[in-house]
Amino acid sequence: MLRAMWNRRTLVVCLSVLIGGLAFKSMVGVGVAQAPRTTPPFQGNPDDLDRVDGTRGPIDLNLMDPALVGAIDIHEHLGPGPRYTDQKMSIDVFDEAKLAKRRGMRGFVFKSHLDGSSAAAAYLVRAHVEPTLEVFGRMPLNFTVGGINAAAVDEFTQVQGGWGRIVEMPTMDAPCPCGPDKTRDMPPGSEGDQLAYNRRWAFIMPPGSPKLVAISKDHELLPEVKRLIGLMAKMVTVDSSGRLALATGHSTGEEDLLLAREGRKAGLQVTCPHCIGDLNPTQMQEYVKLGAFMEMRHNSLNADVVKRIGAEHIIVSTDCGFMNNPYPPDCMAIMAQKLRSQGITEPQIDMMFKDNPAKLLGLPPWRQTAAALRN
Ligand SMILES: [Zn+2]
Repeated sequence: MLRAMWNRRTLVVCLSVLIGGLAFKSMVGVGVAQAPRTTPPFQGNPDDLDRVDGTRGPIDLNLMDPALVGAIDIHEHLGPGPRYTDQKMSIDVFDEAKLAKRRGMRGFVFKSHLDGSSAAAAYLVRAHVEPTLEVFGRMPLNFTVGGINAAAVDEFTQVQGGWGRIVEMPTMDAPCPCGPDKTRDMPPGSEGDQLAYNRRWAFIMPPGSPKLVAISKDHELLPEVKRLIGLMAKMVTVDSSGRLALATGHSTGEEDLLLAREGRKAGLQVTCPHCIGDLNPTQMQEYVKLGAFMEMRHNSLNADVVKRIGAEHIIVSTDCGFMNNPYPPDCMAIMAQKLRSQGITEPQIDMMFKDNPAKLLGLPPWRQTAAALRN
């Protein structure tokens, strides 16, 4: 009897110590407001990439994978960014630099949806956080930078360091209904709310101004888009003498093809974040024949496309950094595990995680750099 009671008391004490310890750990480790979990904690199952509680954000899963060593993730959404859109970032660019470095990544590209601040952020990371990381900026041409605006693109290339390297066609202001944040996708009636939340600038534009940033008309790119692509091909970034690459934004499949044709003709490297999903198999063949890259993001991960199209045309990028997915390096590790489990080989993984992003950004192949460091 006494023994049984003692055991029970021990159990209660142990449990309270354990629970107290866990609570303390989560307070210290997470550092975010403690709302109750509505979904089970993310366990790193590749099928559950988005199973993170969006109110608390991800925790560092600390996943390691050979695919990370030498990888460059060309599509990360990081803070600081505006607080008014529904795209809340879970991590800022400095903290991501520390994470990426610890996991052996070669670098990443910070995509700031609404401005060119990513070029300055890349400079600050390289100067003050991780000088050995290859960090770059990616700027979509939404209204907040003036839409299709050569002045904004030129400034992006001239920010100290010259790390603003990917210029993207419109995303949040693109007329294409294919992105996740299109007012057109909203049921009638909710459009105003959605606009107020995600595209509040639409309410303060001068009367009669266009509501969205168009890039094509009658199956052709607009003249100002063609002109801008021509200018981009001639631009050289300050200090580091880099070249720009073109990203196709939230465009339609037809526009992705038009942009790839125009960009490649001008001699630019091209990447398409939404081709997987927007292009049919025939268009995909046509697209990759142009020598342009397609991004395979965490929510367009598809081993069959790798087998059908070829790893040489694909860049694996996470599109992570939001509250509702794991931190970008964990996303990368999970994506590698998933591709491997579906029959994708290590050389294919190296090509999509390391070689192709380096090529897009005009960097020497990672193996060459690693070999040079060893000698
Ligand atoms: Zn994205």
